[in-house]
Amino acid sequence: MSSDRFGIYSSIPETTSTLRLKGDEMPKLQFDEKICETCPTGACLVKCRYVDVGRDQAKEEILKISRGEDSFVFDACVTCYACEEYCRRGNHPFYLITEKREEKGLLTTPRAITSQWINIGEPQGRYKLGKIGKKILSFGFMPEFLKLARGKLFEDIMPSFVFGQEFFCNVVYIHFANTSIIKKRLPEVMDNFKKLGVEEVVCLHDECYGSFAHLAPAYGIEVPFTPIHYYDYLYDRLRELSDQITPLNIKVAYQRPCSSRLSPGKHHRVRDIMALIGVELVKREYQDENGLCCGGIYAMLYGYDFANDVQKKNIEDMVSHGARYCVFNCPACQNTLGEKVAKNGVKPVHMIDLCRMAIGEKP
Ligand code: SF4
Ligand code: SF4
Repeated sequence: MSSDRFGIYSSIPETTSTLRLKGDEMPKLQFDEKICETCPTGACLVKCRYVDVGRDQAKEEILKISRGEDSFVFDACVTCYACEEYCRRGNHPFYLITEKREEKGLLTTPRAITSQWINIGEPQGRYKLGKIGKKILSFGFMPEFLKLARGKLFEDIMPSFVFGQEFFCNVVYIHFANTSIIKKRLPEVMDNFKKLGVEEVVCLHDECYGSFAHLAPAYGIEVPFTPIHYYDYLYDRLRELSDQITPLNIKVAYQRPCSSRLSPGKHHRVRDIMALIGVELVKREYQDENGLCCGGIYAMLYGYDFANDVQKKNIEDMVSHGARYCVFNCPACQNTLGEKVAKNGVKPVHMIDLCRMAIGEKP
């Protein structure tokens, strides 16, 4: 394999893995109808902005879906992941909808597009490994992180990193009503991490963290390391570097990614980090639990008119509340929405670059 500023790449050791799934050989969603039957809120669908139901109907629709019956929810759901956060009882309503869509052949895109995306995530043996230690950075399969993870914030861990399809979480396929590819690939991805002998994985891709800390346990897939969200990592590093922080004194809007619905317990770190670096998060309508998708997936699955409408609402909300910057968690959201916010006078910036601005590494 080739080399670059991170040094000579090594390869995944050719050892026989001992990784086993908990329980069944084939991962199976752990969904319990009894938990829904006694649910006091039906919050999964009551809060969903794309269906209009009360508590009792919400529970009934989820139970119908679980029993394999038809439901209008299959047509209405736009795969925003939010009900995974709304359900406070850990019963995985969106994973259930996805499983049943696939069982029924209710695809969200034409088969050719789904296949194209599945091929993109296929392991090709073109992964990159840095100097692997017990604690590593995972870039998932997002090349943007190879450029973002620089400077003092990462000097205690780099060049210990992994990048490539072999370490890619594959969660994006729930947008495509395809959990079978995740159930096949995710145990193999876990195997690849296990062969490296790593103990802690700092996930720069929010969705990878969601996969390892939320989706894998929901399917009984063993995770052979401790996943760490990069917001926790950044927060700790910024505290260590606190004497080098100059408050930025800027107003920002935060673009919450769909994947963040799989790790709602980490969302408070957005405010924690911004407080540390002197950034004001504007109080706008579409933030926190009420956040809107960047629209990238919507454009592909549901058409440009729908995506444009969501993006317009979102950007107008940022502008009307006086945000000077839009802070992105996920590079894919930034690629989708960055130019559009910039055209409206709001500068796009990734969270890592925002933190680097605060320690004087970026203008
Ligand atoms: S999925 Fe969660 S929120 Fe929805 S009915 Fe079941 S327990 Fe309640
Ligand atoms: S994923 Fe989003 S659109 Fe689909 S049911 Fe859940 S909250 Fe509604």
